[in-house]
Amino acid sequence: MNKPEKLYMVVPCYNEEEVLNETAGRLKEKYISLIERNMISPESRVVFVNDGSKDETWNIICSLHESDPDFFSGVNLAHNAGHQNAVLAGLMTVKDICDMAITMDADLQDDIDTIDAMVEKYYEGNQVVYGVRNARDTDTFFKRFTAEGFYKFMKVMGADVVFNHADFRLMSKRVLAELAGFREVNLFLRGMVPLIGFKSCSVYYERHERFAGESKYPLKKMMAFAINGITSFSTKPLKLITTLGGIMSFLSILAFIWAFVVKVIGHSEIGWSSMMCSIWLIGGLQLLCLGIIGEYVGKIYAEVKQRPRYIIDEFINK
Ligand code: UDP
Ligand code: MG
Repeated sequence: MNKPEKLYMVVPCYNEEEVLNETAGRLKEKYISLIERNMISPESRVVFVNDGSKDETWNIICSLHESDPDFFSGVNLAHNAGHQNAVLAGLMTVKDICDMAITMDADLQDDIDTIDAMVEKYYEGNQVVYGVRNARDTDTFFKRFTAEGFYKFMKVMGADVVFNHADFRLMSKRVLAELAGFREVNLFLRGMVPLIGFKSCSVYYERHERFAGESKYPLKKMMAFAINGITSFSTKPLKLITTLGGIMSFLSILAFIWAFVVKVIGHSEIGWSSMMCSIWLIGGLQLLCLGIIGEYVGKIYAEVKQRPRYIIDEFINK
């Protein structure tokens, strides 16, 4: 192996005061062992991104930086930009100063011991290494059901995502440079990174329970995330509308013929209930289709504004 390369860890944090010190301690241990084994450069760092937390998170990050300025850095976002934006803010901040970056949640659900395998795969020439969960035993049935359903649904809807892979992944400097070229506002990193291409592979790990604190992804946010993922990455829903429109038109021709025949025969009273049903059905379908189209129009609206996706307040780095 040549000279060990610089690994930067990007950790988004939103109200994570309960876990941050523990996470920092464990990451430090891991780094020391990786540096000793000559797998990463001693100049490697951990960058915490504070995503507009309302608790002591930023103060903890500052004190970690003060106690160990060569190792811990912090990015403070000006407001809560959301998980995906926070991850991107961290990655774009480090993209020119690291050789590879790993993104990981702050709550220790992603297994830190997987980092070794990720780094090894990187040296084998992989530009992206996806961390993939091999079990969901620690998740509740509901979370498992919704999460796995999410990946399957995404595939059906035409968005290319790695099954059971969240945002625990290693990316090389080259991939980060390419990622910088994606200008979209509705971020869905899981869909964007596979689009970049390059040689990639997966490593498998067991997902733990959250070390402390509670999930910042309630059902409402999760569903919004899924809808965002689909509408940001695929136009399949639009194609489905066209198909549906075609089928409906065909059926209405049949209905027209049927009504005509009934009239000719002389039994022309059309049942009130069937009429009500069809009005409701068509009304409902139209609304559904309008809703889906509205989803895309909303996206176009957000994209054309070209707003910054995050605003950094400060970057503490030695
Ligand atoms: N997070 C963030 N901004 C947010 C919500 C969450 O930076 O608005 C961070 C959070 O601190 C954690 C990661 O994103 O490090 C994943 O969140 P969480 O663990 O709550 O999600 P879950 O694992 O329950 O899906
Ligand atoms: Mg979590």
